[in-house]
Amino acid sequence: MSDLIETPKILNSNECLTLPPTCNSQKMKTRKALVGDNIPIRRALPHADRKTIGAWCFLDHFGPLDLANTEGLRIGPHPHIGLQTFTYPLVGEILHRDSLGSKQKIQAGQVNLMTAGKGISHSEESLPDTVLHGVQLWIALPDSARHMEPNFIHHEKLPVIKLDTLQIKVLAGEFLNSTSPVKVYSPLVGLELIALEDTTTHLPLNPKFEYGILPLIGTIEIANEIVDIDTLLYLPSGRPNTQVHIPKGSRILIIGGEPFHEDILIWWNFVARTKEEMIQAAKAWDNHTQFGEVIGFKGDRLIPPPLPS
Ligand code: MN
Repeated sequence: MSDLIETPKILNSNECLTLPPTCNSQKMKTRKALVGDNIPIRRALPHADRKTIGAWCFLDHFGPLDLANTEGLRIGPHPHIGLQTFTYPLVGEILHRDSLGSKQKIQAGQVNLMTAGKGISHSEESLPDTVLHGVQLWIALPDSARHMEPNFIHHEKLPVIKLDTLQIKVLAGEFLNSTSPVKVYSPLVGLELIALEDTTTHLPLNPKFEYGILPLIGTIEIANEIVDIDTLLYLPSGRPNTQVHIPKGSRILIIGGEPFHEDILIWWNFVARTKEEMIQAAKAWDNHTQFGEVIGFKGDRLIPPPLPS
């Protein structure tokens, strides 16, 4: 849920396509990757066509995976800079440890928010559950916040509201006058929708925000597009709402935000602005000088891939 192991190259936002102004939406296929050497995931962001949606810059959807009789999810200590990691399990439990001394079990429906700022390291492992299903996202920190001291916050409860026959959890930002306690540093929103019945309704949107919609369970219809769990639907800013049709039992992740105009680089577990910052961070991890130590994880710390030339 943390390494860009499949494409260890520095992604520059200029590599991403921009939509022509007449485009109403864009379907982006997720790609398959592995985390912790053995856990298959669907990676929705970054995408060849788009690096960020608001400040959201990374989105992995894992499971549902039956981990019985396997090693489970085991991601050894690794560093982060310049981002927040946002972890949200739908099913199962994950144990987080970090270099601040945090040791926190996260259960289904809860959020772990780790703000890396100038540097932190952590490990993640599944607990002896048989099934794991969830998402992990990264939020790029704006330049004004990316050098801050790191912190970690576990959120046991998030606001839940009803809209029509949708149960909506406000994971980040604000929606219909409910505000998530999750601390973010740029205008953005994160929602989980659960359809209690087959639902056709209009979903209010912030016209200043662009959006990404990813089904976690089920296939939905939105903005006249059929969207399945292998697809992230992008909606550009400018809409006051969108029509959705969501079958009963479906669960959908919605992320959005004001388009992030800072030109970020993403490589391995780092979000930065220059290649020199990446090299410095990788060296500091190798030399144990910047990221502290994770205590208690039984296993090796991760080693960065070679820097791209
Ligand atoms: Mn990580």
